[in-house]
Amino acid sequence: MNVGVDLGGTKLAVGTAESLQVVTTPATSEGIIAAIEALAGDADGIGICVAGRVDLQRGSTFAAQLPQLQDVPLVDRLRRPGRRVTLLNDADAAALAEHQFGAARGTHTSLYVTVSTGIGSGLVSQQRLYQGYRGQSVELGHAGGSGHQRCPCGRVGCIDMTASGTAITRAARALLGDPDLPIETLAQLAADGHPGLVRIVRQAAEDLAPLLGNACVLFDPQVIVMGGGVVLGYGDLYLDTLRRALADSLGAWHVPELRVAELGQQAGILGALQSLA
Ligand SMILES: [Zn+2]
Repeated sequence: MNVGVDLGGTKLAVGTAESLQVVTTPATSEGIIAAIEALAGDADGIGICVAGRVDLQRGSTFAAQLPQLQDVPLVDRLRRPGRRVTLLNDADAAALAEHQFGAARGTHTSLYVTVSTGIGSGLVSQQRLYQGYRGQSVELGHAGGSGHQRCPCGRVGCIDMTASGTAITRAARALLGDPDLPIETLAQLAADGHPGLVRIVRQAAEDLAPLLGNACVLFDPQVIVMGGGVVLGYGDLYLDTLRRALADSLGAWHVPELRVAELGQQAGILGALQSLA
């Protein structure tokens, strides 16, 4: 039996497509390893997705939300004779799941992009997730946008700084003069046509579009699957702007179809399980 693990900063979920157990993420690396061991039982395969970057050369992860796992050889610690352990980023797991079971099933090549707290992405071609030397797939969030801010990742001008859900929420709250406005209220105001908010949401989509265009020229996806809280919250306002701006950015190049992700929260576990297939 294989199990999937979705390891986040606050929640640790372990299970299969049918049953899932969720616990609070332990504060120490030993606690996390013990919790995974306990919940995975005698699984033959453990597929782990984490909310952060992975280093497959070392079998470790470095995620801002999981400082306790810094430099911990997680894969080696969980591996044992007869058991396979895989490790991948959570957006890459979702990319794999959407390609296999979700909005991109049956397609040749799909690019998955999630616009949420941050911007994550992954590329899957013919059922295989593209992973580079360290296990990273296509990471659009930290590719260059038009900004000049330094990102926590150390690069300057990452699109994550200006077009993520965090950036949209920050700009919207500043515009409305209330630092605590719930995201649902912002989404409702935008849906009602609040001109300033509509402009902020459109701007974020227009900023992301040239990077999606670059990804299309580089990787030639058949479809782009869009997921994450911004897509869910702002819906067609965001997606229609993105479609238009992507077409503008691609000129005479083929414009792939933009689809909405179908698997929601389950995508991480499904992708982690799929990484063992
Ligand atoms: Zn960055």
